[in-house]
Amino acid sequence: KKLNVALIFGGKSGEHEVSLSSTASIYKHIDKDKYNVFTIGITKDGRWMYYEGNEENIKNGEWVNLANKNVEINLVPVGNREVGLVFEDGRVEKMDVLFPVLHGPYGEDGTIQGLFEISQIPYVGCGVLASSVGMDKLVCKKVFSQIGLPQVDYTYTTKWSFNKNEDQELNSIESKLKYPIFVKPANLGSSVGISKACNREELLKGINEALQFDSRVVLEQGVNAREIEVAVLGNDEVKASIAGEIKPAKDFYDYEDKYINGASTYDIPANISDEDMENIRQMAIEAFKGIDGKGLSRVDFFKDKETGEIFINEINTLPGFTNISMYPKMWEATGLEYSNLIDRLIDLAIDAKK
Ligand code: ATP
Ligand code: MG
Ligand code: MG
Ligand code: MG
Repeated sequence: KKLNVALIFGGKSGEHEVSLSSTASIYKHIDKDKYNVFTIGITKDGRWMYYEGNEENIKNGEWVNLANKNVEINLVPVGNREVGLVFEDGRVEKMDVLFPVLHGPYGEDGTIQGLFEISQIPYVGCGVLASSVGMDKLVCKKVFSQIGLPQVDYTYTTKWSFNKNEDQELNSIESKLKYPIFVKPANLGSSVGISKACNREELLKGINEALQFDSRVVLEQGVNAREIEVAVLGNDEVKASIAGEIKPAKDFYDYEDKYINGASTYDIPANISDEDMENIRQMAIEAFKGIDGKGLSRVDFFKDKETGEIFINEINTLPGFTNISMYPKMWEATGLEYSNLIDRLIDLAIDAKK
């Protein structure tokens, strides 16, 4: 029997557009002989709507105007109401697996995973805890350091303390870190709100920019480093892919480079020693287990160009799945082709609920 799979896409986060591209790509590669694919979009203001297929209109955002607003999306079991999609003629399609193809807050941070838990339907990827820890760069750093994973120096500020005494906060940051300093909203991805500050003026500007996205801001020691990424897959038995290297076209790997011009290039496998490769793959698995990861994650590392030192940067529990994204590419290079990767993710979702 064909499984009903719902791809849930869009969302309220600053990574809405990335999600549309990821979804178009998954929609294209998912095996339609095995699955009935349902697509549920979430608008930027957080309204859920059923939209019937066509990857092009998902990608360009037209789906919002074409959605069928009369189809009810019932995910919470209430009384006798059936959980699933309720069509105008009364037909109910139950979902076997939910696949959140969402990035950033409300999609990757445990909130929607909480709703899925309540729906009692298996879902792809990490649960509530791993999602929320993975999304929060500050809490995640604490977990990583507790496991003993090497990281760059960092500190943080909050909207409240920054607005109270800007100069004191800037002085405090400058006493802990040297320029360049990376400024990041605690909860986001796709480099949205991230900047590199080379002096106090840029630091001030960067913090104000990051505060547009979150009330907590992470400040990190900037390193002159190669960027190595690894794809992780599994529940209890976790596998790491061959690592890849991103070569950003500009100063750093920003939003534009990731999704607009795609000017960066990459090497898969990364051109690093066997020892580094093994070490990075092992650390990726430790990071994933350390946050109680399930399903998938992409773990990002830095390799200092001068000292050769390796630092873990972050873990992404719902990494990009666009046609230029590293996660599916690294699995392909490791021998797992895109549509088989989707099968595997769906199987893992079902296994996690057994
Ligand atoms: P995504 O989730 O899309 O991978 P993100 O928004 O979570 O991205 P990071 O991966 O933390 O952001 O940082 C984005 C990019 O900024 C990195 O890929 C790297 O190019 C640069 N960068 C971030 N932190 C540092 C640092 N401490 N030193 C040097 N470069 C950095
Ligand atoms: Mg990230
Ligand atoms: Mg991310
Ligand atoms: Mg990253």
